[in-house]
Amino acid sequence: MKPSIWLIEKWRLFIIVLATSIGGLLTDEWLISLTLSLFFYIIWMYHKLQQFYIWMADGTKQDSAPDSDGIWDKINYQVLQTKNKSNNRKKRMNVLLKRSQNILKGFPYAAIVLNQNNEIDWSNKKSGLLLNIVKNDRGQRINNLIRSPKLYKLLSSSEDGSEVEIESPKDLSTQLLLKLISIGPDSKLLIARDITQRNKTLEMRKNFISNASHELRTPLTVISGYLEMIKESGELPKSLSSQIDVSYEQSERMRNIIEDLLTLSRLESTDDIQDISVDIDMNEIINHVCQDFDRKITIEIETNKTIQGVETEIISLCTNLIQNSMFYTPKGTKIIVRWYEGENDKLCLDVQDFGKGIPEKHIVHLTERFYRVDKGRSKERGGTGLGLAIVNHIAHRHNAELRIDSKVGVGSTFTVCFVKV
Ligand code: ADP
Repeated sequence: MKPSIWLIEKWRLFIIVLATSIGGLLTDEWLISLTLSLFFYIIWMYHKLQQFYIWMADGTKQDSAPDSDGIWDKINYQVLQTKNKSNNRKKRMNVLLKRSQNILKGFPYAAIVLNQNNEIDWSNKKSGLLLNIVKNDRGQRINNLIRSPKLYKLLSSSEDGSEVEIESPKDLSTQLLLKLISIGPDSKLLIARDITQRNKTLEMRKNFISNASHELRTPLTVISGYLEMIKESGELPKSLSSQIDVSYEQSERMRNIIEDLLTLSRLESTDDIQDISVDIDMNEIINHVCQDFDRKITIEIETNKTIQGVETEIISLCTNLIQNSMFYTPKGTKIIVRWYEGENDKLCLDVQDFGKGIPEKHIVHLTERFYRVDKGRSKERGGTGLGLAIVNHIAHRHNAELRIDSKVGVGSTFTVCFVKV
C-alpha cells in the first residue's frame, strides 16, 4: 500500500530535523547546520518546481508527468484530473455543436446566427438559396447585404420572436417570412421561410370568398325581393305565410352575411390606407351614428382632437360597436359612448354598456369570424358573427387597437385607441 502524502511529508520534515540535529551535535554549529538543511530542502523544492513548470509548459501530457511522490504527486494528479475533465467537457461541447450545426444544416429553412452587432457568425446552405448569403459573408453585417427597411426594423426590435415578411433578394417573386430568435446574451438566430405558396393559397382563398360573395349577391337580392313581394301582397294562403316569413328572414340573414364578407374582402384587399385617409371629426361621427338608433345613448366628448382615417370605415366601426351594445343588452340599459385622450398619447373611443357582460373565456375569441357567444340572440337580430372581426380589421388598418373589457353581471366596454397624429 502507498503511504499517504502527509506521512511522506512528515518523513521529509523528520529527515530535515534529523540532519540538522546530527550536524549540530557533531559540529556544535546549530545555526549553520539548520541553514544547510533548509538550503538543501529549498534546492530540492526549486528542482521540483522547475520540473513542474516544464511539464506544464509542455502541455501537461500524462506520460511525461514528473516522477514524484508526496504533495508533488498529488499536485500532478490534480492537474491531470482537471485537464481530463476539461477535455471531456470540450469533446461533449464539440459533439453538441456539431449536432446543432447538422440540425440547422438540414433545416428546411434558412438559418443565420448573428452576433450582437448583427454580423453573420454562421449560416446554413439554405441561406444561400433564399437570402443569397454564403460562407464568405461571415463577419459582414446582415443589413449591409440585405437592404430592407423591414429587416432593419426587425433587427432593432427588442421583442423575441418578432416576424416580418420581405421579398427574397435573390428572386423578387419569392416571399419570405423572417423570424428573429434570441439564443443567448450575444447571439440571435435569424430564420427565413419561403411563404410564397402559403401566400398564394391565402390570396386564392380570399379571392374565392370575394368572388363567391359577389356571385351570390345578385340571385339572393332577387330571391329576397320576390319573397318580400309575396309577403306583402296579402294574397298568400294563411297556411303558407309563416313559411314565407321564415324564408324571407333567412334570405335577409344571408344577404347580411354576404355584405359583411364583401366588407372584409375589401378591407383585406388594401393594407395601406394613407392615400385615402382624411381628417376625421369623431364628435360629428359619434353624434351622427347615435342619431340613427332609437335608444338613449349618453355621449361624452372630452376632446375635440381629430384622427386620420377612412371615414366610411370609422363610421362602420362605431356603428358595429354601438349596435352590439344595444342588441346584447335589455331595453333601458345605460350605454355610454366616450371620446377622450387616453394614456400613451392615444385618442380613445369607449362604447360601454351595463348589460349582462361576456364570460372571460369568450373574450379572446370575439374577433374571430363567425364566433358568437349568445348564438340565439345573435341570429334573432340577424347578426352575422362578423361585426367584431370587421371592427378589429378596421382598427388594425388605422394603426389602432381594439380592447374588450367585460365582467359578467357588470357590463362590457369596447375600447379602440388611435395613435395621435
Ligand atoms: P354578431 O353579428 O353576432 O353580433 P359580432 O362579431 O358583432 O357578431 O359579435 C360577436 C359576439 O360577441 C356576439 O354574437 C355576441 O354574443 C357578443 N357581443 C358583442 N358585443 C356584445 C356586448 N356589447 N355585450 C354582450 N355580448 C356582446
